[in-house]
Amino acid sequence: MADAGPFDVLIEGGTVVDGSGDQPFAAAVGILHERLTLVFGDTDGVAAGRRIDANGLIVAPGFIDLHSHSGLTIFVDPLHEPKVRQGVTTEVIGVDGLSYAPIADPSDLEALLVMNAGLDGHPEIGYDWSTVESYLDRLEALRPSLNLAFMVGNSALRIGAVGWDEEPATGGQLANMRSMLREAMEQGAIGLSSGLDYPPGSYADTEELAQLTAEAAALGGFYHTHVRYPLGDRFLDPYREAIEIGRRGEGPVHITHFYHKQIFPEGPGPMLALVDDARAQGLDVTFDTYPYEWASTRLLIMIPPWVQSGGPGPTKERLADAGVRARIRRELADRGVLFAGRRAWDDVRLGAFRTPDLLRWEGRTLGDVVAERGDDPVDVLCDLLLAEDLRLNQVTPGPWSESLREFIRHPVGMIGTDSTFVGDRPSPRSYGSFPRVLGQFVRDEALLSLEEAVCSMTSAAAARIGLHDRGLVRDGYVADLVLFDPERVRATCTYEDPCRYPDGIEWVLVSGEAVVERGAHTGARPGRVLRRS
Ligand SMILES: [Zn+2]
Repeated sequence: MADAGPFDVLIEGGTVVDGSGDQPFAAAVGILHERLTLVFGDTDGVAAGRRIDANGLIVAPGFIDLHSHSGLTIFVDPLHEPKVRQGVTTEVIGVDGLSYAPIADPSDLEALLVMNAGLDGHPEIGYDWSTVESYLDRLEALRPSLNLAFMVGNSALRIGAVGWDEEPATGGQLANMRSMLREAMEQGAIGLSSGLDYPPGSYADTEELAQLTAEAAALGGFYHTHVRYPLGDRFLDPYREAIEIGRRGEGPVHITHFYHKQIFPEGPGPMLALVDDARAQGLDVTFDTYPYEWASTRLLIMIPPWVQSGGPGPTKERLADAGVRARIRRELADRGVLFAGRRAWDDVRLGAFRTPDLLRWEGRTLGDVVAERGDDPVDVLCDLLLAEDLRLNQVTPGPWSESLREFIRHPVGMIGTDSTFVGDRPSPRSYGSFPRVLGQFVRDEALLSLEEAVCSMTSAAAARIGLHDRGLVRDGYVADLVLFDPERVRATCTYEDPCRYPDGIEWVLVSGEAVVERGAHTGARPGRVLRRS
């Protein structure tokens, strides 16, 4: 009999994949006051308030999602089932430069909400916060089903210090952003995010971002970046800039949704070599990717950044202007298929409609609308955005199926689902990312070992975001755990039918409390805000 216990919960009979990357082993896991203890040998005499039979199941640390767009929608859906059912116990919000704090002026917050409703949603929740502390306190009071870690977005900083216009920051404005960032991190943010397709954060230049990265790094944070995709050769130059920002700012760089598109001029090798070379030079560069072929963001991303200067009011005025539309038409033609796929408008699936006569376009493509209306596609695009107050979402081709495995199996590759919660038919990444890796890439294709995959989803991600007592099944760690059936685990969602929960994720525990029990959500909400410590 093992000399341990008594416990609140005892998970018996399972195989532990502890998150370190080491071989699986047989052990029970006891949980007392949210913390776990490994128990080896016979557990018959170990006292526990509750016993969970894990025979045939893998017991692993809960998964950490490095990119989630739930920072607003979770207020109306704190159970957050699409993520919890994947085994996610912590997710990173405030990504893509788009954090909704700190924002001092309520009209600025409203403007940011309008601009990004097609990506982050715009639920009616009473926007009563301004500082990071007040926003995180509200999340904490909500008690969602999983834990949240918050990044401060450079758009929020720029709105406060520079405003909405496309212009460089002065020295004083930069100093202002640095002090806002410092304060945000002192209030719990884990680092700085950027989304260099999204104004006004995208108006920041390399040096501005390097200085902000230096500020974040000085407080133990890191730079999490959606790179400047239209930069230079539109292939490697965007990532070169991200690495340069880390080099100049002497801070860690995490490239989010790093993937290769079929339309790129070369294969994924040169992209991954940038990361490998930077690391060989001693730079701390990591990345996440999502294991689905479908990207998704706000439809407004189609519209060049200069059109969006000044915020939603000026954006809408310009979208209504025939001369502006002509210039957008020329620029989109020059930019080619960068933002869509080979089928152009037929590859842009629309979502998040609310205007009654437009609801029938939900889940249909821009090509469908163009075909019915017989109008010019740019006119259709601008008209739809105006009719829907900019809030539309798009799903377009993203990672190329032939190259996405190179990113999944890379030693510093992690998972960021980039999950969105707007529209009826999101990218399947919102529901299936972690199970797809475990089911298809680990089990069916043997692309990487189970312990490697779990390591990247747990301890590697915990180290990246600065969590010191989560991400491993190790004595004294917080009992954020997932129990899954390695034979049955799989994603069931598809492009056509994306809102389907996975199979084989049997139990999920957050701080020792079951939020998924035998494959069903329990309704429990033990989640916390994990502030920088
Ligand atoms: Zn994103």
